Amino acid sequence: FIHLENVSKSYGPMQVVEGLDLQVKKGEFLSLLGPSGSGKTTILMMLAGFESITSGAMWLDNQKINELPPHKRGMGVVFQNYALFPHMSVAENVAFPLQMRGMGKADIAAKVKTALERVRLSHLGDRKPSQLSGGQQQRVALTRALVFEPKVILMDEPLGALDKQLREEMQLEIRELHRRLGLTIVFVTHDQSEALTMSDRIAIFDKGKIAQIGAPADVYDRPQNRFVSQFIGETN
Ligand code: ATP
Repeated sequence: FIHLENVSKSYGPMQVVEGLDLQVKKGEFLSLLGPSGSGKTTILMMLAGFESITSGAMWLDNQKINELPPHKRGMGVVFQNYALFPHMSVAENVAFPLQMRGMGKADIAAKVKTALERVRLSHLGDRKPSQLSGGQQQRVALTRALVFEPKVILMDEPLGALDKQLREEMQLEIRELHRRLGLTIVFVTHDQSEALTMSDRIAIFDKGKIAQIGAPADVYDRPQNRFVSQFIGETN
């Protein structure tokens, strides 16, 4: 479904992703784990189209996407610091991706209404992001990423700034959406227990390469190399 074929990325002389081959199945929840600087965010940025790839190819649903602009890739993004537009209301934020895609006003209004109902935010549509709690803001960001019915959602530490309780609520919410909508999700996190509970598979990165990929139980019970066995269980 998603296929990265021999993808590399360099910033100047520094290679941050090296000959990466990765396939993600339709409906799969894949987490990317690894030390800071191992290239996880860069991979999401390349998939989303915010960074170019240096070499290789990327495919989504048999379409080569690496030369398409971000809004033609069919991917929704939720980044921790991919802030909501502060000058727009909640409803306007959610409407934005639909306007970008040229949808008519009446259709946009209907879509936004349904989307906000689905995440129980209808009563907050007129507020500005600054008038919401952190968890509510994240729900709006998630709604904005979902509203155009993307094939894939890319999430980079979407829950990193939340306290423990909100984080657990949002984890449940994301899992529920994943199941209910059959979404394909690529999820970057620092939180190993979050990756363990949420994912179908986990890819552990070491310096721009996959050190191991598999079901959580495989990775945790049968680390294939010293890097993985040392990384697992490390608090970070
Ligand atoms: P973290 O967990 O800290 O977010 P990461 O695994 O997501 O780390 P990346 O953010 O992908 O890692 O960064 C990989 C490497 O690329 C780092 O060494 C980083 O400094 C470098 N890098 C990232 N973006 C750029 C950029 N725009 N220009 C130059 N170097 C960059």
